[in-house]
Amino acid sequence: MTDKLASDATVVIVGAGLGGVRAAENLRTGGHEGPIIMIGAESHPPYDRPPLSKNALTDAADRVDLKPDEFFTDSSIDLRTGERVASIDPTAKTVSVTRGDGSSYGQSYDALVLATGLLPRPFPGAEDVDGVFTIRTVEDAQRLREAAGEAKKAVVIGAGFIGCETAASLHTLGLDVTLVEPAPTPLAQAVGTTIGDLVTRQHLEKGVAVRAGTGVDEIRVDGGKAVGVTLSGGEVVDADLVVVGIGSTPVVDYLEGSGIELASREVGGGIACNEVGATSADGVYALGDVANWRDHGGAQRRAEHWNHTVEQAAIVASAMLGTDHAVVPAVPYFWSDQYDLKIQMLGWPKADDDVHVISDDGHKWVAYFSRDGMLTAVAGAGKVGAVMKMRPKLVTPTPIEDVLPD
Ligand SMILES: Cc1cc2nc3c(=O)[nH]c(=O)nc-3n(C[C@H](O)[C@H](O)[C@H](O)COP(=O)(O)OP(=O)(O)OC[C@H]3O[C@@H](n4cnc5c(N)ncnc54)[C@H](O)[C@@H]3O)c2cc1C
Repeated sequence: MTDKLASDATVVIVGAGLGGVRAAENLRTGGHEGPIIMIGAESHPPYDRPPLSKNALTDAADRVDLKPDEFFTDSSIDLRTGERVASIDPTAKTVSVTRGDGSSYGQSYDALVLATGLLPRPFPGAEDVDGVFTIRTVEDAQRLREAAGEAKKAVVIGAGFIGCETAASLHTLGLDVTLVEPAPTPLAQAVGTTIGDLVTRQHLEKGVAVRAGTGVDEIRVDGGKAVGVTLSGGEVVDADLVVVGIGSTPVVDYLEGSGIELASREVGGGIACNEVGATSADGVYALGDVANWRDHGGAQRRAEHWNHTVEQAAIVASAMLGTDHAVVPAVPYFWSDQYDLKIQMLGWPKADDDVHVISDDGHKWVAYFSRDGMLTAVAGAGKVGAVMKMRPKLVTPTPIEDVLPD
């Protein structure tokens, strides 16, 4: 058990994204009076990422700021943007920080929060090719939007949630889009092929070409610029731009030599944490996309979800302040906007769970997931009420037979 934070203790937060901001905010509203220093590698004030593959891609005017500028001064949060934590010494309780101009300084802390997120995985060999894009930052989205304005055809490699959303957004911008996925359907790795088929249907209806069950052998390059892809069967798909959405890796490089324990790749990697976000080092917590928390069943899990990050930030702040937090067994929530449909997911679906489609009108649908006879997750498209009403059933173990319609 980590000691309760002294009221004048210095808290350093590494990463000025959603998790970092929410942790800082919760510490302040929870009564912490000491310095809070938030160090962020990006040059922007904290912003929200979900719009980057959705509205912010289709509409340049869409705002993504997480907080108004005055929030940080009003809350006495020392926001240091454009600075990167290069290393951590948990024994001396210091972090080494590199500024944008290359100079560096040491910063001591009493408690440290790590919220450094992910980096998108590049397509091997195409890291610096013009016309190849990944989406994680606001600059990534800006660059893609500008390129889309000049393009007619796009290939999206990888039909996970971000790939599917990007395909939908590029289609909305008027591009002829091909979505390529080596698994049998889009989203198959995350939620299995039954849901994958329902999502495929919506892309096909809009006119997006879905090439599932085939990988991309290479991104074709001419004159230093991407001109399409070669599929694993040898077929060539021409494109003016290629978006790569093949997953992300936790940002943990700065932990090298710190002794802070990482989770194994089998359980999702990232920083190993207990059920309130404490890492193996005294006074050091981690949350958000980079953190791999122990759940109440004792399993380590890492999620890349907005709500999950927000909930973890509240739990970490409570643990640091020694205040009670209603640590209900968390029911993870995730959403994805594709075209006019909001897809929502509650729980921990696995690709090989049994899937029961409860309703499907050809466009909107609801499905329950089960494993060993027990409800594990609920998903829906365009069915907010039907999904959200199931949350209590996922808080406590519920036999699937009890919730299936007669
Ligand atoms: C395009 C896109 C669409 C998404 N859509 C959805 C969605 O529809 N629904 C949903 O639930 N979730 C969605 N997500 C996921 C959601 O945005 C994340 O779960 C959330 O941003 C996680 O917050 P975080 O603070 O952990 O990481 P981030 O928001 O990534 O913030 C981490 C910050 O840490 C900084 N950093 C890294 N290393 C260092 C260092 N050494 N020193 C200082 N700073 C550092 C990074 O530059 C970054 O700014 C989406 C994500 C993306 C990229």
